[in-house]
Amino acid sequence: MADLNTDVRYIKGIGEQRAKALGKLGIATLRDLISYFPRAYDDRTQLRRIADLVPGEAAGVAAMVASPPTVSHIRRGLDLVKLRAVDDTGELNVTFFNQAWLKNNLRQGETYVFYGRAEGSLFRRQMTNPVVEPEGRREVTGRIVPIYPLTAGVSQLILSRSIRQGLDACADILPDVLPDLVRRDHQLCRIEYAYENIHFPESAEALDLARRRLAFEELFLFTIGLERLRQRREVVHVPPCGQVDMEPFYSALPFTLTDAQRRCVEEALADMRSGTPMNRLVQGDVGSGKTMVAAACVFFCVKNGRQAALMAPTEILAQQHYQGLAPLLENLGIRCALLTGSTTAKTKKSITAQLESGEIDFAIGTHALITGSVAYRDLGLVVTDEQHRFGVAQRADLAAKGDHPHILVMSATPIPRTLALILYGDLDVSVIDQLPPGRQPVQTFAVTGGYHQRVYSFIRKLVGEGRQAYIVCPMVEENDELPDERKAVTEYAKKLQAEVFPDLKVAFVHGKMKPREKDAVMAAFAARETDILVSTTVIEVGVDVPNAAVMVIENAERFGLSQLHQLRGRVGRGKHQSYCILISDNQNEETRQRLKVMTRTTDGFKIAEEDLRLRGPGDFFGQRQHGLPGLKVADLGCDTLLLQEAQAAARQLLAEDPELISCPATAERIQALFTQAADTLN
Ligand code: ADP
Ligand code: MG
Repeated sequence: MADLNTDVRYIKGIGEQRAKALGKLGIATLRDLISYFPRAYDDRTQLRRIADLVPGEAAGVAAMVASPPTVSHIRRGLDLVKLRAVDDTGELNVTFFNQAWLKNNLRQGETYVFYGRAEGSLFRRQMTNPVVEPEGRREVTGRIVPIYPLTAGVSQLILSRSIRQGLDACADILPDVLPDLVRRDHQLCRIEYAYENIHFPESAEALDLARRRLAFEELFLFTIGLERLRQRREVVHVPPCGQVDMEPFYSALPFTLTDAQRRCVEEALADMRSGTPMNRLVQGDVGSGKTMVAAACVFFCVKNGRQAALMAPTEILAQQHYQGLAPLLENLGIRCALLTGSTTAKTKKSITAQLESGEIDFAIGTHALITGSVAYRDLGLVVTDEQHRFGVAQRADLAAKGDHPHILVMSATPIPRTLALILYGDLDVSVIDQLPPGRQPVQTFAVTGGYHQRVYSFIRKLVGEGRQAYIVCPMVEENDELPDERKAVTEYAKKLQAEVFPDLKVAFVHGKMKPREKDAVMAAFAARETDILVSTTVIEVGVDVPNAAVMVIENAERFGLSQLHQLRGRVGRGKHQSYCILISDNQNEETRQRLKVMTRTTDGFKIAEEDLRLRGPGDFFGQRQHGLPGLKVADLGCDTLLLQEAQAAARQLLAEDPELISCPATAERIQALFTQAADTLN
């Protein structure tokens, strides 16, 4: 008797070698095997008549082999099997490369189903290397066929046959982790049906039912797991912050906060008054004014008698924050300091001492803020900017400098809200979905390489008017090697300087430079010492140069929408009309569509949704994806409604049965999914 933990070698046809190959796919047990889901399906249900084959289209035909297959040995390593097949409507010439054994398997007078791309003309139809099987077998034709991700030594057929056996062995013992009531309330099919049809769908409808059920299950378990992490966090109690008159802060600002900024501030202050540590993500498009939300929180925290720290990913960003915030906050009686890698040892010593004694209320800086020697008297609030640049561990290191300080994370990567909920695990999310008034949207154009001269003239004209330009340089892949960004940037900048803009100042920056060098180049650009900055995507991080009015992106097809949006956000930060020019010679339909989205909207959230739709969640998750427990079927781009449904069901169950006593199978699965993932998600 097999059970779910039985080794895959239990399956007929899987020995030492194949078990090893399957191991590479993460398959060791029968449970792994049957949980290895197809990445796609090929609908081979419909059969056509030979006369109805359309050259260029894939289709299946049932046809009789009319002549004995012939084998010809063309040269070493190339054998051809050829045959002629017929049905009532016509004739099909079939060629197989290097499958000489088929000569004996395909018999004259017998009918087979051939599935493949039709070629030739209406008068001479042919197929090369079709899938073939005897009529009636319906294993690889005449049905919806699963397509699995493969590895060397494992073919589609081996996998699907093994999974077939695995399902037959396990169907009756699959534990259903969805409580019956949930299953009924949400009209979800049973687990056996779902597993059967996710692998071997009886019909498109059956596949939909199976997919829906499995996606729901994943999102349901995932939500319960997250909710429990969140509950664990809320067990910590901290002294609640007291009320603070915020009026002095608001009236010190040179502008009025937008409604969206106000809402975010209020949400954050409510957290800090609640008696449990704040753990909040503020999401807002570039230029939406996240810094001032952070400043309001800092004001609130310091007026509560505690210290605050703001950590930025680069030295120059830290400096910008310091220059922007210190004058404002100092005026309000808050003592500020800047602490970065280039702070002299002497200054650092004095700042450290003052942080420890409490003479400094607010420290702005880089990683330097979390180095070992730095201690705070009473760190009450930790703000990190551009969250995606920091590892979770670094955020935790800074938090460890205080006793459960409040945490505010600022991110300029707009992501759809449902995704944020999953991506940021147990953070609460505030969204600044409004830009300060009076911003002129960046005008965006998508053009081909043929426009280079015009683009250069345009840059020259703007520089003539006193503006500055960014150019994200082209990256050419040479002989399949990864492009060398240093070489690409340097050469392109040299060429521009020598041949196109000899009279202007062209500078460049790339990721291989030392942080010091990079910061120096950025600082010179910010100080208007250079006119044109050629770079890779390192400028993606939120450096503020309001005078820059044009962003040119070469090979725009290489970037995802969200990344393009991020790059575009470098311009349009001042009072000047700004422009973004996307250059691409790529004619691919999807690429053209993506670039068009950029020219039509400047709304980061819309763009993020579009990106999610076009490319799936992989790009948002990046590295973190590995930490997401058990999301295999659920498509975060499309299953938003299902996610909401699953979340509601999960919360209801938790409200009624917080310890999941009524459904041990559910509890057990969540335990298994979350033991490893808990660190990543926190
Ligand atoms: P980001 O969200 O990209 O970090 P910033 O906080 O840097 O945006 O703000 C961008 C610019 O907008 C800054 O120059 C800031 O002073 C200005 N700003 C912020 N809030 C407002 C507002 N409510 N009205 C006008 N300007 C604002
Ligand atoms: Mg910012």
